[in-house]
Amino acid sequence: MATGSINVSVENIFPLIKKFLYSDHEIFLRELISNATDATLKLKHLTNIGEAKVEYGDPRIEVKIDSENKKLHIIDQGLGMTADEVEKYINQVAFSGAEEFLDKYKDGAKDTGIIGHFGLGFYSAFMVADKVEIITKSFKDEPAAHWTCDGSPTFTLETAEKADRGTEIILHIAEDSTEFLEESRISELLVKYNKFMPIPIKFGTKEETLPKAEDAPEDAEPEKVTVDNIINNPSPAWTKQPSELKEEDYKGFYRELYPMQFEEPLFNIHLNVDYPFNLTGILYFPRLGQDMNLQKDRIQLYQNQVFVTDNVEGIVPEFLTMLRGVIDSPDIPLNVSRSYLQADGAVKKISSYITRKVADKLNSLFKNDREDFEKKWNDIKIVIEYGMLSEDKFFDKADKFALYPTVDGSYFTFEELQEKIKDSQTDKDDKLVILYASNEDEQHTYIQAAKDKGYEVLLLDSPIVSHLIQKLETSKEKITFARVDADHVDNLIKKDEETISKLSDEEKETLKTDLEKVVPATSYTVQLEALDSSSAPFMITQPEFMRRMKEMQQTGGGGMNMFGNMPEMYNLVVNTNHDLISKIMTEKEDTNKEAIIKQALDLAKLSQNLLKGEELTAFVKRSYDLI
Ligand code: ADP
Ligand code: MG
Repeated sequence: MATGSINVSVENIFPLIKKFLYSDHEIFLRELISNATDATLKLKHLTNIGEAKVEYGDPRIEVKIDSENKKLHIIDQGLGMTADEVEKYINQVAFSGAEEFLDKYKDGAKDTGIIGHFGLGFYSAFMVADKVEIITKSFKDEPAAHWTCDGSPTFTLETAEKADRGTEIILHIAEDSTEFLEESRISELLVKYNKFMPIPIKFGTKEETLPKAEDAPEDAEPEKVTVDNIINNPSPAWTKQPSELKEEDYKGFYRELYPMQFEEPLFNIHLNVDYPFNLTGILYFPRLGQDMNLQKDRIQLYQNQVFVTDNVEGIVPEFLTMLRGVIDSPDIPLNVSRSYLQADGAVKKISSYITRKVADKLNSLFKNDREDFEKKWNDIKIVIEYGMLSEDKFFDKADKFALYPTVDGSYFTFEELQEKIKDSQTDKDDKLVILYASNEDEQHTYIQAAKDKGYEVLLLDSPIVSHLIQKLETSKEKITFARVDADHVDNLIKKDEETISKLSDEEKETLKTDLEKVVPATSYTVQLEALDSSSAPFMITQPEFMRRMKEMQQTGGGGMNMFGNMPEMYNLVVNTNHDLISKIMTEKEDTNKEAIIKQALDLAKLSQNLLKGEELTAFVKRSYDLI
C-alpha cells in the first residue's frame, strides 16, 4: 500500500481561480475592501486588548484610480503584515488568516465583525488584474514588505520603504477589465457592496459649502472647501439598539436604502438576536398593491455589513419577500445552492424567527392602535393573507389579528365575525354562512339584496382570497363561505318560516316549459324558487365551488387545469312569488311572453355584468321599443 498527498500545484489552480472563483468579476473589489476592513478591525481589537501598543486613531480605507498607469489602489491603515506574514497568509492559497485570527482570539474577537472566511478572497484580484502588488507595513516594529506577482505562481518579496502602518494593494488592471478604471463603475460598485461597511471608505474628494458664519455680510459668497468623499455610512441603523432609534431614524434609513422610493414605509420591524444564531436587521412594510410578483427582491442580505445579495429566497419565507429592508447575519451559509439552503437547520431557524417577529409586531400594532391598523389593512393584507396560506405557524398567530372588512367599512376579526352572525346566518346543518363580495361595483345588486335581508357582507378583494377562503373552511369548524352572487343566499341561510309557493305543481311545470323555450340551456339551469315577493324575479347565480376552483387555478394552485377549462355555468333563479311571474303566466300572446322573459333575463344578466356586445345592443333597442 502506498500513501501520500496529492500534489495540487498552484500552476493549475491559478487559471481556475481566475475563471471560476466567482462568476461575477466585480466582486474582487468587495473582497479587497473586506480584507482592508478586517485588517483595520483586527488592529482595533489588538489595541483594545493591549496587544498592539500603537494609537488606533481614526483609520480609513482609500480607493484610488490611476487611469494613466492603468492601476487601481486599495489602501488601508490596518494592522499590516510583516514579510513572514505575507509568506504565510498570501503565499499559502486557501489559508484564511481571518479564520486563524478568530480562532486565536476566540470569544473576545467574536463580535469584531471580521469578514474573511475561506482564504481565497485576495486571489479574486487576479480576475481583473494581470499583476498585483502588496506594499505593507506591520504595526510591529519590522521593515515594510513588497510582494509582486504577475499571475504565474512565481512571486517576488523584498523590503520596501513604506513608513506608515497599513497595506496598499495595487492592481495592474488587465486589458479586458479596463471598466474597473472608470470612476463611475467603481463608484457604482462601492455603493452596491460597501455602502454600510464599518470603516469609512474614501473615494476621491468633493466640494462642500460651509455654513455661513454669523457675522458674515449678507452678500458674502458662501465658502467652499474640498473634503474627502466618504462613500459609506459605517454605522447604519440596523447595527444599533432599537432603544437608540426613533421613528425618524427608521424612516431616514429607509430613504438611505431606497433613495428612489418616495413613499414612506408603513412600519418597521427591528430584528436583533444573538442566540442561537446571529442576526440583525430592519424590515419595512411598504404600501403594497395587488400584484405580488412585482414586489420581490427588495430585501438586502448583508454579512457583517458587507452586501451579499438582494435575493433572499430560501432565507426569508416566501411571503415576506414582499417586504423591504436589510438582514445581516454571518451565520447564513452562502457558498451553497439555494435548495440546500432551505434544508439547512440554521437557515430554518432564522426563517422561523423572522416569521415570528413579524407576527408579533403585527399583533402589537393591532392591539395598541386598532384604528390605525384598520387603516393600513388594505396595504398590508396581501402579505398577511399570503402568510396565512403558506405558513401554518403564521396562520395561528395571524388568526388573532387578520381582519375581515365589510362592504360598510367595519373590520372584524374572525372571532368577532362569528359572534356577530351566529344567530342570523346559519344553514340547515348549523354551519355559519359567511357572505362576501369580491367587487363592490360588479356585485352591487347582490350585495344590496343581502343587506336588505339584514346579512353582513364582507368585502374580500385580494387576488388570493379564494385560496384563503378554502384554507379557512378547512381549518375552522362549521363555517362556509358564499359569494353574494353564489347559489341564492336565501337558500343557504336557514330561516324560521318558509315562504309558501303561490304556484301549484302543474303551474310550475308550464312555467318551466315556457322559460326553457327562451333561456339558452347551454348556459343556464332554470331553478324555480318560492322567495318572498320583494326579491327580484330573475337572478343569475353561480355555483360557489366551481367559481372558486376556477379562480384558484387562475392565481396558481394545483397542477391540472381541469376547472379552468370548464365552461361558465350559471343558474337562473326564478322567484315564483314575484308579480312578474303571474304576468308571464297569464300572457296569451307567445311573442309577448317571449319578449317579457327575454327582457327579464337580460336585466338579470345586466346586474351580473354578463350583458355585453350584440346582446347589450339588442337589449337597449328592445327597451326603447317597450317604452
Ligand atoms: P480571508 O480574508 O478569507 O482570510 P483572503 O484571501 O481574503 O482570505 O486573505 C488572506 C489573508 O491575507 C487574510 O486573512 C489576511 O491575513 C491577509 N491579508 C489580506 N489582505 C490584507 C490587508 N489588507 N491587510 C492585512 N492582511 C491582509
Ligand atoms: Mg478576505
